[in-house]
Amino acid sequence: MPELPEVEVTRRGIAPHLTGRRISAVAVRESRLRWRVPDAVARLAGRKVRSVRRRGKYLLVDCGDGHLILHLGMSGSLRLLAPGTPPQKHDHFDLVLGDRMLRLRDPRRFGAVLWTDARPAAHPLLRDLGLEPLSAAFNSRRLHALTRGLRTSIKQLLMDGRRIVGVGNIYASESLFRAGIHPATSAGRLSPGRCAALAAAVKRTLRAAIRAGGSSLRDYVGAEGELGCFQSRTWVYDRAGRPCRRCGAKVKRIVQGQRSTFYCPRCQT
Ligand SMILES: [Zn+2]
Repeated sequence: MPELPEVEVTRRGIAPHLTGRRISAVAVRESRLRWRVPDAVARLAGRKVRSVRRRGKYLLVDCGDGHLILHLGMSGSLRLLAPGTPPQKHDHFDLVLGDRMLRLRDPRRFGAVLWTDARPAAHPLLRDLGLEPLSAAFNSRRLHALTRGLRTSIKQLLMDGRRIVGVGNIYASESLFRAGIHPATSAGRLSPGRCAALAAAVKRTLRAAIRAGGSSLRDYVGAEGELGCFQSRTWVYDRAGRPCRRCGAKVKRIVQGQRSTFYCPRCQT
């Protein structure tokens, strides 16, 4: 599943090819995605793209009088192609901008192509999203305030998109390793110092993944076509039974909220 870093890599890949250009044509070959593609999307030709932003895992294409909202779902990818490139079976949506074309491929159709002419932050899919982990608003003070009184484990808090958006399973395990925090620690018991270490670790982990071009368990292909390679460099994720890269102790795997968590029992307390 494309995670926040993959979506950010996609955004950086496509933004220069969309921003400032006029939409010349739109093709909706399959409107039955996660939600039905609204008719307004097919009528976007003539609008100029002002910017391509990201909120959580949603891409927001500012068209002046409204925003195209794109989500990659479980298996979606966006590619830049020459207009007229014949569509393959799962190529459901094209946005043509003169001499280039943005194409959504989504075999499982859990992705989304939506339109809003209101403020995107007020859209039902976006309004309850938690803190953006790469923003300045996500810092030690906010994380400490956010965790007060919570008995849930810090791993599950990191995965709760209503509080912190888009950290994802791989990055939650990796961030907790970097911060030296055991994943089962009650969120409400973290000291200000540990919150500071964790906020910094989340940012470092996500930035490293973005630099590596994103990563995924599936066949994600970045906007420019290169495969993500973050996963081969993980500290603990998917390394159960293997020696910790820092101390040599055996990496452990536990299940929290039906998701696997990996950690080093010696480095994380
Ligand atoms: Zn270790």
